[in-house]
Amino acid sequence: MSDRMTRLQRRPRILGALAIAALVVAILPVVGRAADPDYPPGDSGYHSYPEVAAELAALERAHPEILHVRAIGRTAEGRPILLAKITDGANDPADEGEPEVLVDGLHHAREHLSAEAALDLVRFLVERYGESSPVGRRVTRLVDERVIWVVPMLDPDGLAYDLSAPVRPWGPGGASWYAAWRKNRQPIPGSSAVGLDLNRTWGYRWGCCGGSSGIPASENYRGTRPWQAPEVRVLRDFVLSRIVDGRQRIRTHASLHTTGELVLYPWAYTRADRGPEMTRLDLSAFRLLARRMAAQAGYRAMQSSAMYPTDGDMIDWMYARQRIHSFTLELSPARGAIATSDRYYLPDERLPGLLRRPRAALLTLIEAAGCPWSLTRAASQWCGTFADDLEGGSGWTVDPAGTDDATVGIWRRADPRPDGLQPGRVRSGRDALVTGPAPDDPVRDGTTSVRSPTFLIPAEGTTTVRLAWWLGLGAGTGPGDGLTIRIVAEDPAIEPQVLLAVAGNGSPRVARLRNLAIALDPRFAGERVALELIAYAAPGSGSLEAGVDDVRVATEPESAG
Ligand SMILES: [Zn+2]
Repeated sequence: MSDRMTRLQRRPRILGALAIAALVVAILPVVGRAADPDYPPGDSGYHSYPEVAAELAALERAHPEILHVRAIGRTAEGRPILLAKITDGANDPADEGEPEVLVDGLHHAREHLSAEAALDLVRFLVERYGESSPVGRRVTRLVDERVIWVVPMLDPDGLAYDLSAPVRPWGPGGASWYAAWRKNRQPIPGSSAVGLDLNRTWGYRWGCCGGSSGIPASENYRGTRPWQAPEVRVLRDFVLSRIVDGRQRIRTHASLHTTGELVLYPWAYTRADRGPEMTRLDLSAFRLLARRMAAQAGYRAMQSSAMYPTDGDMIDWMYARQRIHSFTLELSPARGAIATSDRYYLPDERLPGLLRRPRAALLTLIEAAGCPWSLTRAASQWCGTFADDLEGGSGWTVDPAGTDDATVGIWRRADPRPDGLQPGRVRSGRDALVTGPAPDDPVRDGTTSVRSPTFLIPAEGTTTVRLAWWLGLGAGTGPGDGLTIRIVAEDPAIEPQVLLAVAGNGSPRVARLRNLAIALDPRFAGERVALELIAYAAPGSGSLEAGVDDVRVATEPESAG
């Protein structure tokens, strides 16, 4: 081999080393300390925080078209929290609107394998992208059709402490380099204790149910208020930043932890299956997806609280507040397989095998971001072009044309109070789109309207709109009082299609939940459309209430022959 060849081959390596050095230099002043401690030589297969940063930088350099790495905020001690974005055109600011999925690791400092698994996912996706093997083709399709966000280390402060603290004797022989540290490294005012349990500080049902501790020295200390840990606020704010046009783009999520070899789904705070905020359909989707992922990893699936109840847990907030199908993966080893703190610190010789196990499950999670209900029997209705159970902020626009004149009973997403004009229940979960949800605020003096986000009707096939609706009419109502549901195209030249038009006939009407299923006219094929709900009451007549729940728009291919 000529000298010239050798030099050409060496150049990328030198550039690589320079890039890594630049990144480390960029991080050091922020951290304000010498380099973070390394893993001991016997465990050098694991990655310290600077090694994760360096590896992400190297992967980004090798795969710039599908990987972009940035910091989304700082830890309590000032370390940048790194986020990897994996998708086709990762640096392209243009938004393709693809379904998104989030994976995070190292909520808990000593759960070293969780950071390795998150990093492994990034590496696996970018290195298999473009390969012609079956798994390569699957990875390529998922990277092209999804946006995959990975936060490998939520608590690098805790990891640095775990790698550097004076050894606490535990385990057989008491020999270890590690401190078995779980929490972050935030000082606790008025206490000599340090750190919050990051997975007890999320803001849904925080501290509600005996699933966390109010004692600062506890390993499960939740702090004195929700969102007290900066690391959790950073991750929450990132999740909130993915609400685009009123709709949360992230559809599925996994928080990686150890140990137990479990796939856990909400709720964490209660042993009740559903609670008011979980729909029957979602419970079914959670179970089916958890079982699928567990089977692929050789883990077990269960409700999170069946392991032990926890409150202020990430997955409860992700589902209850963001309607993200959110799971905790408890990685190896199996619970009870290793009794002591050693269970967090499996030898690095085992890493290749341990990291291989959850990979297929994580691909399933990424796939499911396309439609979390895809394994349920209702998939054909809920995995179409548009579906909304109206349980979360969902991008509907009140008074879209600016012409409404009703002053009470305005459409909103809420839990209606039964009052004769509102029914005693909704179709699913807790909320629906309703006119005045309180007992004394019906529509009585004008028109109120609300429009869904727009969606694209496929050019081929028969598209059906399904929804649940009700209309309650009080005494004194007549033909000037009613509910109209219609489809409007973005193209103003296309005539809207009325799907439902119900008006009063002089007698009161009790609100009852009804189902509607109407085929769309072929003139909407290939068009962007929205659903509009219009409730109207003639001034001086009676009052009315209306509601809509579980909107599903799906297209079936034309049957052959
Ligand atoms: Zn954990």
